[in-house]
Amino acid sequence: MTEELLICAPMRIEARAVRRGLRDSTGATGITRSGYGPRRAADRAGELKEDSFGQLAIMGTAAGLTADLSPGDLVVGTEAGAVSGGSAPLLAGELRRAGLNARAGRIATVDHLVRRAERPALAADGYLAADMESAALAAAAGGRPVAVVRAVSDTPDRPVAGIVSGGLAALRALRAAAPVVERWGAACGTRQVLLAGPRSFCAGVERAIEIVERALERHGEPVYVRKQIVHNTRVVGELEDRGAVFVEELDQVPDGATVVFSAHGVSPMVRQEASRRGLAVIDATCPLVSKVHAEARRFADGGYTVALIGHAGHEEVEGTLGEAPGSMVLVQTPEDVARLKPRDGEKVAYLMQTTLSVDEAAEVSGALRERFGSVRGPGSDDICYATTNRQAAVRAVAADSDLVLVAGSANSSNSVRLVETCERIGTPAHLIDSASDIQLGWLTGVSTIGLTAGASAPPAVVEEIISALSGLGPLSVSERVTTTESIRFGLPKEVRQ
Ligand code: SF4
Repeated sequence: MTEELLICAPMRIEARAVRRGLRDSTGATGITRSGYGPRRAADRAGELKEDSFGQLAIMGTAAGLTADLSPGDLVVGTEAGAVSGGSAPLLAGELRRAGLNARAGRIATVDHLVRRAERPALAADGYLAADMESAALAAAAGGRPVAVVRAVSDTPDRPVAGIVSGGLAALRALRAAAPVVERWGAACGTRQVLLAGPRSFCAGVERAIEIVERALERHGEPVYVRKQIVHNTRVVGELEDRGAVFVEELDQVPDGATVVFSAHGVSPMVRQEASRRGLAVIDATCPLVSKVHAEARRFADGGYTVALIGHAGHEEVEGTLGEAPGSMVLVQTPEDVARLKPRDGEKVAYLMQTTLSVDEAAEVSGALRERFGSVRGPGSDDICYATTNRQAAVRAVAADSDLVLVAGSANSSNSVRLVETCERIGTPAHLIDSASDIQLGWLTGVSTIGLTAGASAPPAVVEEIISALSGLGPLSVSERVTTTESIRFGLPKEVRQ
């Protein structure tokens, strides 16, 4: 699958730094020079077009355009002229894991040394760095994968004065980046992606995000949100940018302010505290979590000991246990069931966290049924439709995949369960917040990648992952839909139009 990587560096000194970085490599990587400036780069690109390399990496120094860049920082080009560096987020992530300061961004190719006065205008156009060769050289790839890695030698603050020390820092960075770029080359190849359907946002998450957005429109910023509205760093970051303030507990919310309760629900104690404080509450608890709360109250009122199957410490579990603290016990494993001491063995009921693994929960509920013959369960499944559907969908693609990527944050229960679902059937799987979390080593020998997203992960992340993978070589994408979803939940009255 892997063909030879060719690294092109414009100047001798840059090529030497890269070669030193590759000193211990297998020697399968070729290094060539283009010469300095756009004209030489165009001439060299014309020659290289006919070469039989598999992937092209362009490495050299560049002028930094934004004030937050320092000499020695690396910019991985998301584009070089008309050529897309689709895998830039992935390569930048790998460089960061190697301990380098790297980010993906636009690199401008100009026909002269970029002057101090020109930098703000280029930065305003969204460029992070400028060089004189990358666009012309990238054209030599002719559709083969391209990576552009430029090390910052000078910055807007020190366009010339720091050029010697900055140049040395840049050359050191190029040297350190070389083995990582070589790993990028080894990860290139033809692949297919099997998309699991359904995936990504569920009705409860869409509703919770819309509640915060509407609260911001109505009340202006800040709108306080107790806990993460949903367990996803991207979603939380974007809402923060718009004025949402996420707090852990209500004592961080000023008196009289508006506070949104997250999709995972809260215990009655939290509601009472909000009311005592005079806070204006908007409840974004998913209706399917509220349903479990109601079942907990009903069983507890009927004198039952309620075993809640779930994971300790999860916000949803804490909220549900809080509905009837004197009657509820958390059980996580069949061993917990064996240790259970109900008040009355004839009056035991069980409920579940909504985002459990279907298989794991069945094991624990089976142990409860075995030990307590008259045990009562929920009226309808507590594991919600979105969790069940995403697990079935990922199972369908994992069976035919060498590797599964699950978009979702580490604290997202349903996303973690998707990883476990794959592992249970023997397919390696990784949870990633973004394309930059994909480790190049995972892709070795992998030709079919299953791809899904947890119920709290935005669809845009899936698109970004596909785009990054397509930067590693020809990528065919097909979707396997195991079921379709049409569930929508209404909004609370506080934010209804
Ligand atoms: S995963 Fe299920 S319970 Fe959680 S918010 Fe989505 S629909 Fe509601």
